[in-house]
Amino acid sequence: MEKISVGVLGATGMVGQRYIKLLENHPWFKVTYVAASPRSAGKLYKDVVSSKWLIGEEIPADVANLTIQDANDAKLAVGKCKFVFSALEMGKDEIKALEEAYAAEGIPVVSNASANRWTEDVPMLVPEINYSHLDIIKKQQEHHGWKKGFIAVKPNCSLQTYMMPLHALIQAGYPVKRMIVTTLQATSGAGYPGVPSFDMIDNIVPFIGGEEEKTEKECLKILGKVDGDKIANAALPLVSSTCTRVPVIDGHTACVSLEFDLPEDKKPSLEEIEKIWTSYKSVPQELELPSAPVHPIVVRHEENRPQPRRDRETEKGMACVIGRLRKCAVFDVKFVALSHNTKRGAAMGGILNAELLKSKGFFDNL
Ligand code: NAP
Repeated sequence: MEKISVGVLGATGMVGQRYIKLLENHPWFKVTYVAASPRSAGKLYKDVVSSKWLIGEEIPADVANLTIQDANDAKLAVGKCKFVFSALEMGKDEIKALEEAYAAEGIPVVSNASANRWTEDVPMLVPEINYSHLDIIKKQQEHHGWKKGFIAVKPNCSLQTYMMPLHALIQAGYPVKRMIVTTLQATSGAGYPGVPSFDMIDNIVPFIGGEEEKTEKECLKILGKVDGDKIANAALPLVSSTCTRVPVIDGHTACVSLEFDLPEDKKPSLEEIEKIWTSYKSVPQELELPSAPVHPIVVRHEENRPQPRRDRETEKGMACVIGRLRKCAVFDVKFVALSHNTKRGAAMGGILNAELLKSKGFFDNL
């Protein structure tokens, strides 16, 4: 099978570098186009990135010698790649306009940025949960008059730690009314160079700009339904979150307490919850998408797990690893969950979205 040529916008950044590495031997996609800011444009990828390459292995040889283009000019990508991953860090309005410019040029955009997450006709995908939201893409194309291009986005990385366990319970008939979430988020989540070392070493920062709003609201769109020409949000759960930055390189942890929207005698036992989580599978597993974890949720029983250093690479960095499932004295149950923020939460999650789109025919006529 001939590979589909792809571009990476923001290829020099924290998430962009992950894309470049993860796509190195991808069975379906091949990187042929890299773009970043005007500061990097015109230079070879290896010359810009070698001093800040963060992935720990060599820069893939076929990308190292590509010339970086200015991501602000969508026309430059025409004919160079069929679709793009967007890992840009710019103002929201600028990113929104740019992603639309690529789609208008007939180039689908699979984005990690938050700029289009709340656009009503843009799906915010976690493929295991809301693959049915792909139906909105046709409406999106009609609204804009786009024939081939479209935009699909990923949610915030903090949500990936608990969305699948939450969805698994709701899907099994155990709706959740309220949740309290406290996140301990890795420094790589702040991009490169990120939080100054003096703020991060020997410290915890109890605030991440905009993160709590995202953590509390994005789950409602993901759990929502396509309703005519928009995605209608779910009404529950009500979420209260506290998001903190901790001195961990990769891997976001979340401490979650939840309350079921059910009478006492209908609430699941801890054993039932674990069974639901460990048997959870969905469309990416059925389709055997290359980046899909075989087990999307992994439950650990050691009293001191999950831990970022020990558990973040579980299932290629694509699993949600859960431990410390127990009764909650205030709500019903509580647990600790972990996911890899630059893999499941960013680049590999974006690649899984693209694999789902390809397998559902969205890249057929590019
Ligand atoms: P980053 O390390 O700061 O990288 C930003 C990228 O954007 C670089 O390639 C940079 O190019 C490019 N850029 C900056 N200003 C630009 C401009 N004016 N025009 C064109 N390109 C420009 O950020 P990151 O952590 O990789 O995050 C990228 C996106 O993914 C963000 O929207 C972020 O919110 C989202 N995200 C990140 C994570 C994570 O864990 N890090 C998780 C989920 C989502 P130069 O190198 O040339 O400056």
